[in-house]
Amino acid sequence: EAKRNGLRFAAYQPEMSQRIQRRASLEVRLERAIRERRIELHFQPQVDLQSRRLIGAEVLARWQDPDLGRIDPGEFIGLAEESGLIHALGKLVIEESCQQWHQWRSSGGTDLRLAINMSCKQLEDDGFIAFLAGVAERCQIPPRDIDLELTESSVMRNPAQVVQQLALLREHGFGVSIDDFGTGYSSLSHLRQLPITQIKLDRSFVSGLLQSRRDLSVVNATLTIANDLEVSLIAEGVETAFQAERLQALGYTLAQGYFFDRPLPASVFAESWLSLAEP
Ligand code: C2E
Ligand code: CA
Ligand code: CA
Ligand code: CA
Repeated sequence: EAKRNGLRFAAYQPEMSQRIQRRASLEVRLERAIRERRIELHFQPQVDLQSRRLIGAEVLARWQDPDLGRIDPGEFIGLAEESGLIHALGKLVIEESCQQWHQWRSSGGTDLRLAINMSCKQLEDDGFIAFLAGVAERCQIPPRDIDLELTESSVMRNPAQVVQQLALLREHGFGVSIDDFGTGYSSLSHLRQLPITQIKLDRSFVSGLLQSRRDLSVVNATLTIANDLEVSLIAEGVETAFQAERLQALGYTLAQGYFFDRPLPASVFAESWLSLAEP
């Protein structure tokens, strides 16, 4: 019996152990990359649809391993959440992006807000909000210029606990944005209880604007909800002039996406989007 189980296990092993090995190796490498501060940040402009002027930037983490090359954020963020590394990674993203903001501001750069992605796991850390507030203070960035983006699905998964922490973030003056909105089935009554300041429409509905009546109705309904809740609204994943025009015609004022620019390394972002004073 034991032998048969052993054999059966052996039959599954190659594929399984490959996956487990990659995971284990990635975890070790990610831990080291965070410790050595080798996570890079890219910045993607958020713009006013009418004036096309810059209003903010979303901060997106990038990781290139010396041997394995670029690792997709979808993969390493998931791994960080499962392994607990998200706490250290999240702190690094906050520190580095706020320092960058401070440097831009000191060189006379255009006003801009920072949109920082956050995992709900980070809110489970009791010291997190104090840490964030401390960094913001050191970098002289007003909390209202920081938006924390949480995905709709993660907020809905553990509501009670999250609501309390979000309320605390709001008390400090930070903005709270619901990311990937429209994908998480939240009810209006539930949304009403969330202390949020912005809704970010998921890009899947923007890409469907041309073809699908259902996507159009989500785009419209989201606008109604944002107005109803008196929160700001931004559309992500805008890739074409048509989509930008349509969104504006429907009543959207803010947007982000490849049509305006891709996520860019800090230096390129500054060159393209910030009018820094000559040194
Ligand atoms: P997200 O927060 O929904 O970020 C937007 C994603 O869409 C980014 O992918 C961005 O590169 C991509 N994107 C931007 N404009 C367009 C567009 O016009 N069309 C299309 N098709 N895509 C566009 P990315 O950088 O691969 O990040 C994937 C996800 O990883 C993010 O999704 C976010 O959930 C997570 N993530 C990235 N950085 C961080 C971080 O520092 N902390 C946390 N907790 N999560 C992060
Ligand atoms: Ca986001
Ligand atoms: Ca999103
Ligand atoms: Ca997403």
